Amino acid sequence: MKKYTGKGVYGAIAIGKVSLFQRQDIQVKRLHIENEEAEIERFEEAKEKAVSQLKEIYEKALVEVGETNAQIFEVHMMMLEDDDYNDAIREIISNQNMNAEYAVATTADNFATMFAAMDDSYMQARAADVKDISNRVIACLNKEEERLTQSDEKMIVCADDLAPSETVSLDKDMVLAFVTAHGSSNSHTAILARNMNIPAVIGLGDVFLKEIEAGSLAIVDGFTGDVIVNPEEEILKEYEKKQKEDVEKKELLLKLKGKENVTLDGTKINVYANIGSADNIGAVLLNDAGGIGLFRSEFLYLENMDYPTEEQQFLVYKKVLESMATKKVVIRTLDIGADKQVDYFKLDKEENPALGLRAIRICLTRPEVFKTQLRALYRASIYGNLAIMFPMITSVSEVEQILGICESVKKELKTEGFEYSDNIELGIMIETPAAAIISDKLAPLVDFFSVGTNDLTQYTLACDRQNPNTERFCDTHHEAILRLIEISAKNAHANGAWIGICGELAADTTLTETFLRMGIDELSVSPTFVLKLRDTIRNIDLGKVEI
Ligand code: PEP
Ligand code: MG
Repeated sequence: MKKYTGKGVYGAIAIGKVSLFQRQDIQVKRLHIENEEAEIERFEEAKEKAVSQLKEIYEKALVEVGETNAQIFEVHMMMLEDDDYNDAIREIISNQNMNAEYAVATTADNFATMFAAMDDSYMQARAADVKDISNRVIACLNKEEERLTQSDEKMIVCADDLAPSETVSLDKDMVLAFVTAHGSSNSHTAILARNMNIPAVIGLGDVFLKEIEAGSLAIVDGFTGDVIVNPEEEILKEYEKKQKEDVEKKELLLKLKGKENVTLDGTKINVYANIGSADNIGAVLLNDAGGIGLFRSEFLYLENMDYPTEEQQFLVYKKVLESMATKKVVIRTLDIGADKQVDYFKLDKEENPALGLRAIRICLTRPEVFKTQLRALYRASIYGNLAIMFPMITSVSEVEQILGICESVKKELKTEGFEYSDNIELGIMIETPAAAIISDKLAPLVDFFSVGTNDLTQYTLACDRQNPNTERFCDTHHEAILRLIEISAKNAHANGAWIGICGELAADTTLTETFLRMGIDELSVSPTFVLKLRDTIRNIDLGKVEI
């Protein structure tokens, strides 16, 4: 038995077998083989297995993310059957007497280089696909290191770190818990784990990664950050009990469904949910959120191999709005850059990406991308109660430009005969100190503010949210942050705007009373936190004088 301690980012307990997350760039050995025919047969078998895995994934994606998004797996199947690709692999095996893994990896490199050099951006994007399908074949060849998608058992996924795009691409139904050697609690991977209701522990260190073995039994305690590998019988029993109690406690919270978010003295507040995909709607409804306070639309871009089209986006927004009926849905426009990198945007590598071209800065630099999203949003607006929110604002002129672009999009749509709602609220995120400080100037321009405490904390305290070394200097309750929120709340209300908080701090129940006293109108949290927050609110008495 061995115990490691990291940082728990979603409180729940998982018990199960460990699966090591396999990166795209698998280390492949170059080996001479004696029997080329047998090696070609090995390759053919692995390829067949890869195709049947892709078929399964395609079927699942069809149901979960719709046909447009599922198509990529059809393309992958076709690529695996491509004659040139197959001939190149067979030739390396038979003419150079090399092992199948090496032949597949070399062919993947050659094809990827060829695709990357093409002028057509669609073909360039196929470089990543050929690597992906080849890695799948290599994983099938190396049966001991099967990809996670092959397992029919739910596993605890262990990785050095997981990029948001990697997290989204995991088969969520097969993940019991996330455990990473690195990473920080405000990273998007941690946020995704919370959104997905999956126990997660991060920052377990390199030793953990070195020692952990695939298939070992482990306990993940997302409350304490403990990960226990090969637990003794007694410890296992103790944790099984703890897990049962936790499930029961969460079930008890379900009794609060249908109840109001109201304090003992009668103050009401909206409790909404944060989502990253239309797939999360089930959790939003299940946990009885009053609306969606933050739909991180960038995950639509992260999941795609190319710019999602207006039609593709329209269908997703429409689905979310229709599912929420009359409840408010705040969709945040594209917020990529920094830790959320999307290859096909071809953004320059930056020294300080968090301070670089990200979020609204990309939208204002590439108005065609921004306009496509806005057109999709406005068209979808007639299907529900839409509010649009813009991230990473630092100045009045940015907001003026945004409002100008919105007006021109509306005009365009009208001329083309498209309908859109007249009641769309427009708001901005307060996630830079600049925005909070000039919130008196920004508030008259918008209908609402939503405080992004994750970025507001990183920018106010100069603590990179991706860097685990700065976590100890990153006091999320720092007075500077609370003052910035308070200033923003005052300025919002003085100008007839409402204010919410959608960063992770909204779920910190030790601050709920403070936020209520500031007059915060809405708190938006991961769906699984909605009822816990409701419980906290219902036990607060604002009538009592604070000591
Ligand atoms: C935030 O910064 O608090 C926020 C909600 O946005 P994100 O975490 O997606 O950057
Ligand atoms: Mg942010």
